[in-house]
Formats: sequence, structure tokens, C-alpha cells
Amino acid sequence: MTESTAICRFCHASCGIRVTIEENRVHIIGDLDNPGYHGYGCVKGRSFLECHSDPGRVPHPLQRDADGELRRTISASALDGIAHRLRSILAKHGPRSACWRMGRGSCRPPSTHPCDRISRYRAVLARTREDR
Ligand code: SF4
Repeated sequence: MTESTAICRFCHASCGIRVTIEENRVHIIGDLDNPGYHGYGCVKGRSFLECHSDPGRVPHPLQRDADGELRRTISASALDGIAHRLRSILAKHGPRSACWRMGRGSCRPPSTHPCDRISRYRAVLARTREDR
């Protein structure tokens, strides 16, 4: 059995969790020793493994083609497509036509996912500016 402490990355709260792997099975519980959360974890975090193994989970980027079909793509292509559309929106409706909205707001160091999303969004905006 291996055991480690980590943080739940499902949302920005980053609750402390304890992860054990035993006979190829992963178990996640709240980390009672975490000084900030004392073992707290919401139902979303506790069901993380169910979401991870859900057959409906989308494990890679998808992009809708001209026929309306979703096709697998790579992140860089998806970002290029989003940048292209954002550029069109900004050109047509002006700089105040796009914004970034992040729920319940703290922002943590770049290694955690909310800032990763911001970095990706900034990358999209940078691409729209580069192409002007
Ligand atoms: S356990 Fe719930 S509140 Fe905590 S980080 Fe995960 S999803 Fe967010």
C-alpha cells in the first residue's frame, strides 16, 4: 500500500486529501491532519474517482467541425480555433466583448489548475493579439 497527501484539484478550494493505493485501487479521503481543512471534502471532491472513470468523461479536447461533428483535436489546435473565434468577436464588437470569469475567486500558485486556466486564456488572448 502506498499513501500520500495531496490537494483536491476539482475546484479552487484545494482541500487537503489523503490518497492511498492498495492492490491497484485508489482511495481518497479528507486529510484530517491538513491544518486548513481538517479532513473536509465536499461531495464533488469525494466523488472524484467516479468522475475520473466515468465512461462519458472526455479525456481529450474535442472540436466541432463544419458538419457539426465533434472530432478529436490537440490542445494547440483547439486554442488556435478559440483564438480565431475570439479575434472575430473582438474585431466585430470591440475589446469589451470578451471577458474572463472565474467562479469564487482565489488564485493560487501556477502549479494549480485555476491559474493554469488563466495561463491558457492568456495564451489565447496573446494569439489573438499576435495575429492582428
Ligand atoms: S473537496 Fe470539494 S471543495 Fe474541496 S477542492 Fe475538492 S471540489 Fe473543491
